[in-house]
Amino acid sequence: MPTIEVRNPATGRLSGEVESTSSEQLAGLASRARAAQKAWQKASWEERGRVVARLHDLALDQSARVFDTIQSETGKCRRDALAELVTVAGTARYYLTHGERFLAPQRKRGAIPLITHSVLDHRPHGLVGLITAWNYPFMLTVADAIPALLAGNAVMIKPSESTPLSAALGKALFVESGLDPDLLHIVQGGPQIGNELIRHVDYVAFTGGTVTGRKVAIAAAERLIPFSLELGGKNPMVVLKEAPLEQAAAALVAGAFSNAGQTCISIERVYVEAPVFDRFAKLVADCAGKIRVGWSESFDLDMGSMIHSAHAAKVQERIDAAVRSGATVLSGARRRSDLGEAFVEPTVLTHVGPKDEIAVEETFGPVVSLHPVKTREEAIALANDSLYGLNASVWAGGSESAMSVAREIETGSVAINSALMIYNAFDLPMGGIKSSGIGRRHGERGILRYTQEQSIARSFALGGGYDRMLAGVRSESAASRMLKFVKLWRRIPGLR
Ligand code: NAD
Repeated sequence: MPTIEVRNPATGRLSGEVESTSSEQLAGLASRARAAQKAWQKASWEERGRVVARLHDLALDQSARVFDTIQSETGKCRRDALAELVTVAGTARYYLTHGERFLAPQRKRGAIPLITHSVLDHRPHGLVGLITAWNYPFMLTVADAIPALLAGNAVMIKPSESTPLSAALGKALFVESGLDPDLLHIVQGGPQIGNELIRHVDYVAFTGGTVTGRKVAIAAAERLIPFSLELGGKNPMVVLKEAPLEQAAAALVAGAFSNAGQTCISIERVYVEAPVFDRFAKLVADCAGKIRVGWSESFDLDMGSMIHSAHAAKVQERIDAAVRSGATVLSGARRRSDLGEAFVEPTVLTHVGPKDEIAVEETFGPVVSLHPVKTREEAIALANDSLYGLNASVWAGGSESAMSVAREIETGSVAINSALMIYNAFDLPMGGIKSSGIGRRHGERGILRYTQEQSIARSFALGGGYDRMLAGVRSESAASRMLKFVKLWRRIPGLR
């Protein structure tokens, strides 16, 4: 099989090679995973949890190995690699603490009080497929595999062909933690093998761009398998005039430029009330100008490389197009070929036209545009004027005012007094509306999505009491007695 050569985009150095997975190999891996899953499904929660607890500790103990691998294929700065590991650990901690309760059978009301009762069970799908993006290659693969495995599934991961090494490391760490190697397979390759994977799994959790997400949804629909889509965003920030501007500016710089802006929830557009616009814009430009950009394997820089030169060129072209149509550069806006082939400076723009590509489409790079608005209502209307609806950030003086703005914003999540906090609030479902996705990760739904619901309704009356009840209605008067009982039923609180 052909191999995929992985280079560090910051240095150009060869970081490793992986073998592409063939169709035949994929089919073989899927059947081995299915065979292994049968015993795993029957394993106790303690047994499954032990593996994930060990994975948690092992990944933290071997942090340097994790950081080196992530950095070697993304060129990101070490702090952004650290963020991946912190999220993986947080996901493991959260589901180890709460997962058993989420998965426990739930007692439900029966069809007829007293003589029936019902139970809702959550059963694993069987084989779960994860298809993931390159921007957080360790986190997206390992953190999404954790609840899927804890729920009793086997997992096949198709990582991005740009970043195959972190997923392979994730598998190695799981196996070192005691996981049966057949419960987690990594399928290497591009779109074609991703598409083929959908034909072998019982559920697909996709993280990537909106265009690909639609194709994945169609492929899943053809097989009638459930799926979730975590897609792109054009995430707005709203800054009202009473907001603490220094803090908002510092949060924006983190929200727009961490991971070189290649975060699904990155802030890309900011609506600022006019009286504080100039002051806020200066604060942001000053903070952005201090960001230390480059390649380093220690924690001494703030922003690393973008994923590859083609993506850096696309982002630079969008910046140049915006400038050609009248945007003003407050900071950055230059490609830094002196640092490597995929570095773009943290860029702050104003006077961006509302129809410019950079104002409308997800840029997925270190660029943010600032827009003055006359009123809070205008800020909300512009924030909502997007095909996307992933995340937003709100800064206002009082918490009541911020909450009321948050509730009017059309996104799956809103952070108040923060830009990116939502991703590590593990108890909150995380995902998008509109073209930003379907389904949620994190929270109770983040593990229940990896299960099928089975409803069990049980009658205590032997001889089919419930089924015989209707059969016993053979006259007007019997029907009327029954309807009287049905009417009464709503009025007896204990029986409703
Ligand atoms: P992408 O859509 O190009 O690729 C994502 C994955 O899908 C890759 O593994 C790719 O090989 C695979 N793929 C491509 N075509 C396929 C097909 N037809 N069938 C099956 N699989 C296919 O995305 P990308 O460029 O790797 O990642 C960037 C995008 O991911 C951005 O839009 C970003 O916002 C999004 N993202 C979203 C979240 C979220 O949680 N909402 C998180 C991270 C990234």
